[in-house]
Amino acid sequence: MSNIRTFGVVGSGIIGAGWAARALAAGLDVLAYDPETGAEARLRKKIDQIWPVLERTGLFPEASPERLTFCDSLEDVAKGCQFIQESAPERIDLKIKLHAEIDAAAAKETIIASSTSGLLPSEFQAQCVHPERIIVGHPFNPVYLLPLVEVLGGNKTEPQSLDAAVDFYRSIGMYPLRVRSEVPGFLSDRLQEALWREILHLVNDDVATPAELDAAIAYGPGLRWALWGACQIFHLAAQPGGMGQFLKHFDPSLFPWTRLDPPEITDALAQKMHEGCETLAGDLSIDEMEQVRDDALIGIIESLQKRNLGAGRVFNEHQQRIQDAKNGNEGP
Ligand code: NAD
Repeated sequence: MSNIRTFGVVGSGIIGAGWAARALAAGLDVLAYDPETGAEARLRKKIDQIWPVLERTGLFPEASPERLTFCDSLEDVAKGCQFIQESAPERIDLKIKLHAEIDAAAAKETIIASSTSGLLPSEFQAQCVHPERIIVGHPFNPVYLLPLVEVLGGNKTEPQSLDAAVDFYRSIGMYPLRVRSEVPGFLSDRLQEALWREILHLVNDDVATPAELDAAIAYGPGLRWALWGACQIFHLAAQPGGMGQFLKHFDPSLFPWTRLDPPEITDALAQKMHEGCETLAGDLSIDEMEQVRDDALIGIIESLQKRNLGAGRVFNEHQQRIQDAKNGNEGP
């Protein structure tokens, strides 16, 4: 059982709102701060939109959107929470400054986690008095549905802080993946970036459109990646020898055509990418696309739950936790 009762959200954009929703669904109090005009109204509207999704996937008995308090200052969030998740824009100068400010105001036991997509926690520790509790907890959008969170520390992070963060993330229904080394981009984004660079080359060279490249993922490899990752799927694809046989048949040196350096993002390329994605979206608004995405994701997750496989196992365990809480056993 985690002793974290109040969760802090610093930066309430796409990712911060997702964290707020996930924490509220786990029955926690949430304090949020975002300096942008209208941020509170946007956050509350987003939580209202997301709540029906959370009702479908499971709410702790005490869960309520009313447990959200929007604060006027960063200091109020830092002082009032046992766990703070920073989700401000991906700029190293801003993140270093924010971490120093949160660190100065928060109790020294409070864990301070950053949602950064690839910056390093050692850099965030630079101006902190208590760097031992600074970690990265890198989530995936939509944070309230996808369980993966990559967890890593910097040079000065204490192992106990990482252990506490892992326990906490698990208690709110996530799959914390410990990243052993402090590498930029961590694990998942390094994989995604490799694919992304190749997509940009193929569009830039007029080999394919964004729609065709999305089809090349969504109708094939993307479906099976939800069960297992690329390694296990390839192992299965080369029987009876498995991965050993696969590496002989599909030795990457036999296929030297992919490129790891990105193309230059020219105006022409940006336009082709943007127009391609707009075509794909068709008449659907962003809100409608989010609803389609969430509904389909829940369908996939339910299918995995029946087999207690991958993300389905995480949801099964979390729903058991919710049931225990409803039966008067442990909270999150
Ligand atoms: P976003 O632009 O949607 O939200 C950022 C929010 O931070 C905005 O609401 C902005 O007003 C606020 N902000 C600006 N200055 C601030 C300050 N000084 N203090 C507090 N808040 C401030 O961005 P996002 O997509 O939510 O990304 C946030 C973080 O999460 C980034 O580090 C990003 O790399 C990471 N991340 C993004 C994704 C994604 O898919 N969008 C996925 C994983 C991680």
